[in-house]
Amino acid sequence: MNARPKKSFGQHFLHDKRYIERIVSAISPRPNDFVVEIGPGEGALTWPLLTAAGKLTAIELDTDLIPGLTAHAAEVGELNIIQADVLKVDFTALAHRHGVARLRIAGNLPYYISSPILFHCVEHAAAIEDMHFMLQKEVVDRMAAEPGSKVYGRLSVMLQLACRVEPLFYVPPGAFRPPPKVDSAVVRLIPLPPEQLPDADPERLYAIVKAAFAQRRKTLSNALKQLLDSDAIRSADVDPKARAETLAPADFVRLAKLPV
Ligand code: SAM
Repeated sequence: MNARPKKSFGQHFLHDKRYIERIVSAISPRPNDFVVEIGPGEGALTWPLLTAAGKLTAIELDTDLIPGLTAHAAEVGELNIIQADVLKVDFTALAHRHGVARLRIAGNLPYYISSPILFHCVEHAAAIEDMHFMLQKEVVDRMAAEPGSKVYGRLSVMLQLACRVEPLFYVPPGAFRPPPKVDSAVVRLIPLPPEQLPDADPERLYAIVKAAFAQRRKTLSNALKQLLDSDAIRSADVDPKARAETLAPADFVRLAKLPV
C-alpha cells in the first residue's frame, strides 16, 4: 500500500474520507448488487463498497496494485479482481457469466481515458443498472451540457441519448494523492430504458454527430455536406443554416433516420 502513484496510469488516489463517504452513499450498494469497480487503485472506494455489497468485481490494469488489494480483501469480503484494461472488458458477457441482469459500475476513473471508458460503458448500457464516476469536472460539465452552451458537444449528445446524466458534486484536487491539476466531479449515469433509446442506426447517428461538431462554427449544411444535403436536413425539421451546438439530441436522431 502507499505505492508511488504512476502518472502513466492516471493514478490519483482518493484519501479524503468525506468524499469517499459521499461517493459510497451516492452509490448506496445493496447486499446482492453486482458492483464492478473500475480502477480500484489502493482500495479507497473498494473497501467501503465491498463491505456494503459483500462482494465486488474490480478491474485494475496496474499489476503492482493487485497484491495489496488481494491481501486486504480476505478481511472484508469476496473480491474478484480482473487484471485488465477496462476497455477490453465485455460488461455484457460479464453480467451473463455471473447470471445477473444488470451491473452497477463505479470508479474514480483514470482521466487520460475517461471518454473512451464512457463510450465503452454506453455500448454495454443494456447490461448496466447505473454508473457512478469521478471525472474531470470539465468532462462532467460537457456530459450534462444543454444545447446553446459553449461546452455542449459530441459527448453531451451521445451520452444524453443513452443515459440520464446527473452531476452530483465537485471534488477539489486536495482530496487526492497526488492532487490532479484539474477539479473533479462525481456524476451518476442511469441508462435509459430500451423504449427511450434512439431508433436510429447507431453508426449513422455517431457519424452525423461527429461531423456536425467537428466543425462547430460551420452551418449544418456545410458540416454535414458529405452525409446529407440541405433539403434532407430541412425534411427532418432542422434548419440547415443552424449550427450543431443549437440542436437538441432528438434533432440528431431525426437527421440520422433520414434515408441515406
Ligand atoms: N479508485 C482509486 C482511488 O479512488 O483512490 C484509484 C483511482 S485512480 C484515479 C485510477 C485507477 O485506474 C488506478 O488504480 C489505475 O491504475 C487504474 N487504471 C488506469 N488505466 C486503467 C485501465 N485502462 N483499465 C483499468 N484500470 C485502469
